[in-house]
Amino acid sequence: MNITELQQIDAAHHLHPFTNQADINRKGTRVISHAEGAYIFEANGHKLLDGMSGLWCCNLGYTQPRINQAIAAQLEELPYYNTFFQCTHPRAAELAKAISDRAPEHLNRVFFTNSGSEANDSVIRLIHRYWDGKGHPQRKAIIARQNAYHGSTIGGASLGGMGFMHEQFETLGNIHHIAQPYWYGANTELSPEEFGLYTARELEKKIQELGEDKVAAFIAEPIQGAGGVIIPPDSYWPEIQRICDRYGILLVVDEVIFGFGRTGHWFASQFYNISPDFIIFAKGVTNGFQPLGGVMVSDRVSDVLLSHSNDLAHGFTYSGHPVACAAALTTLEILSEGYIDKVRTELTQAMEDYWLALADHPLVGEARCKGLVGALELVKDKSSRERFAGNGRAGTVCRDSSLQSGLVMRATGDTMIIAPPFILDRSHVKDLTERAWQALDLAQAQLR
Ligand SMILES: *Cc1c(COP(=O)(O)O)cnc(C)c1O
Repeated sequence: MNITELQQIDAAHHLHPFTNQADINRKGTRVISHAEGAYIFEANGHKLLDGMSGLWCCNLGYTQPRINQAIAAQLEELPYYNTFFQCTHPRAAELAKAISDRAPEHLNRVFFTNSGSEANDSVIRLIHRYWDGKGHPQRKAIIARQNAYHGSTIGGASLGGMGFMHEQFETLGNIHHIAQPYWYGANTELSPEEFGLYTARELEKKIQELGEDKVAAFIAEPIQGAGGVIIPPDSYWPEIQRICDRYGILLVVDEVIFGFGRTGHWFASQFYNISPDFIIFAKGVTNGFQPLGGVMVSDRVSDVLLSHSNDLAHGFTYSGHPVACAAALTTLEILSEGYIDKVRTELTQAMEDYWLALADHPLVGEARCKGLVGALELVKDKSSRERFAGNGRAGTVCRDSSLQSGLVMRATGDTMIIAPPFILDRSHVKDLTERAWQALDLAQAQLR
């Protein structure tokens, strides 16, 4: 089938996620036909450096024959069995241990799902189950943040704080959103550290407003990903931890993007020295080669969950799917061979040396990075932080010019974001940054 035929059947039969379908049907989708290392190829032959690791998941790039072999071998040995009704199988048990071994010390139990969204739905169930077990069933309120992304199921999207998503469905009740620690976007008089404390204390205010005996949990991404790589000021997380401890509410850290190495630590909770009750993971756990997610549960929460005398009435047919678990075990094994250290040292340094220098471009109001994620704020005026007209148009223009420059960057409004794979080396980060600069030049020519 040629590209046009493919686009035609796609337009006729495929309903795309996060896409304006009518618009894309007119233009024709971009067909990605194959991939190699850190590069993806369009069916027309155009080669792109994938600055987004797929959707933040192919952290080891696209060429990992050992993961492929593990998948193939598992299909021969045990292609499927479930983990319901008193059964387990070797890969699910081994993976639960392998993840526990790498997580903060006090998290030692894993509930498996097929995605990050399902993991966030599951954590709502586990939070309720915990407070029921503690004899406080009235603790049901969950506090989350504006502009958070926690997935796209009803539960995940309700926890998330994206207005454009909430407009399209009826959200779950008793989920409350507080301000995000987005210092650049707030354009505030406060210093970043003051602003970090100020936004963290929004949690305390909300707990007092709802009544502390009504609040079950707080959920947040360590660094907001889809919201625009929003890196909280250093003062933020210690204050959040203090408040959760003080009021005895559960802390859920959604590490779907940051888990498994993106900060140069296995988990961002270790990087920020946070002590979560639950860690949500997905994406990078299988290098994106199989769908898998899950909820890590702390010992103190596990103790309560295990104290119930009846069954946990929750689970998925594919919870702990053996093929996905096999892919994950090999992914963790490969990551253990020096990649986490490489992100923490060589790649973090390369980002600071090259990516931050993009702040010199006339279109860039702020360049920021942490570990192996980066963002650029596109502005019309650097000193006032005034944005371009068109509500996200500058981002769209820059995303398209980036593709022209051979680089996949994503736009969130007028914020450009990247999360490149760990297989890059310093010279690749330099190359990526040069392509980004070129993309900015092209975008500037269009925007001014
Ligand atoms: C992608 C993402 C999710 C949702 O994961 P899916 O596998 O797409 O369901 C949840 N939380 C965060 C932080 C994410 O980035």
